[in-house]
Amino acid sequence: MDTSKISQLINKQKEKPEHIHQPHFNLEAQVNSGRIKNTHNNYTMKKHNYSAGPCILPQDVFEKSAQAILNFNGMDLSLLEISHRDKAFVSVMEEARALALELLGLEGKGYQALFLHGGASLEFLMVPYNLMKENGKAAYLDTGTWASGAIKEAKHFGETLVIASSKPENYNHIPKNYTIPSDANYFHCTSNNTIFGTQMKSFPETNIPVVCDMSSDIFSRSLDFSKFDLIYAGAQKNMGPAGVTLVIVKEEILGKTSRYIPSMLDYQQHIDKESMYNTPPVFAVYTSLLTLQWLKKMGGIAAIEKINEAKANLLYAEIDRNPLFKGTAVKEDRSNMNATFVLNDKSHTEIFDQLWKAAGISGLTGHRSVGGYRASMYNALPLESVQVLVDVMKDLENKI
Ligand code: PLP
Repeated sequence: MDTSKISQLINKQKEKPEHIHQPHFNLEAQVNSGRIKNTHNNYTMKKHNYSAGPCILPQDVFEKSAQAILNFNGMDLSLLEISHRDKAFVSVMEEARALALELLGLEGKGYQALFLHGGASLEFLMVPYNLMKENGKAAYLDTGTWASGAIKEAKHFGETLVIASSKPENYNHIPKNYTIPSDANYFHCTSNNTIFGTQMKSFPETNIPVVCDMSSDIFSRSLDFSKFDLIYAGAQKNMGPAGVTLVIVKEEILGKTSRYIPSMLDYQQHIDKESMYNTPPVFAVYTSLLTLQWLKKMGGIAAIEKINEAKANLLYAEIDRNPLFKGTAVKEDRSNMNATFVLNDKSHTEIFDQLWKAAGISGLTGHRSVGGYRASMYNALPLESVQVLVDVMKDLENKI
């Protein structure tokens, strides 16, 4: 290749693509093109996205995180190409950790927030690794597929007591009236059962550490979070994209086991390294920070809880009113995040599926172990989307 061709190529490489010069996405153009629509002064995607996770995030978060990939903080560099030790990213991590604690009301109460890899599934293993003593035991509440996944891992570390289970009824309710042994090293529960559409409305009082998998309802409702000693949640429902897991841990419960804990699985190591023991998933952490900032601007958990209740009430009222449908979870344990329901007559499936798809709804199909439908109504799903689904259900009734 002659030298002029080579220098032409080099110059081409140096050219910045045009969109990098754009300070922000042109929302107006996107609205005009029909990709997104303007509802109540808020931009929402055109689809009514009921996906169980990964799932809908606030439109504002999508725009800001996309912008950060093109040009982060006006640095003329992408978020994806700077060092995680750069102070611009270090401050993202610091703010995300602090804001998670602030939103949960746990600042200054001896808790640490960590953003880790491996999904909630890795926490199934890290929890017993860190908390179960050698020859110790732990108590687990079995409320669904994810709870039983956690139980399976704990069994490798010591005696794992399943103190109650709703498995015989295909996990359609939350067991009550169980006893937590006071000599167990911790009690583990799952606050919201994403697949089966049940949610714990109250939590047992106990004198042992309480560990909770809050993957599918963290930041969605007010709770006294200080009653929990360790909370974990995969980000990909109410917090951000897949790829990062939030762990909130009360530091005083650590260091009680004499077993060797590999560094990457050791909560204390992650705390000591300020959640930067190794390269963190920078995009997922940054996008989680944006979602937490959005939540704070919305008025925090108390404000979003009211909207979540309104959405759930609207949908459950229609499930109960409409003779064509039936909820699969017992009423008192119904989840405000994932509503599971079936058609009473399976022969209506084709027409119902056509109707909701035509209405721009996506992600409504239930998990294969339950069948039917699952409407996941995470924080970012607008009330209007629930109204659209309810209208489709009424429409089906009119058409049958
Ligand atoms: N726990 C709950 C309650 C979940 O809903 C899920 C996934 O949907 C998991 C754990 C597993 O999460 P991950 O895929 O992040 O490992």
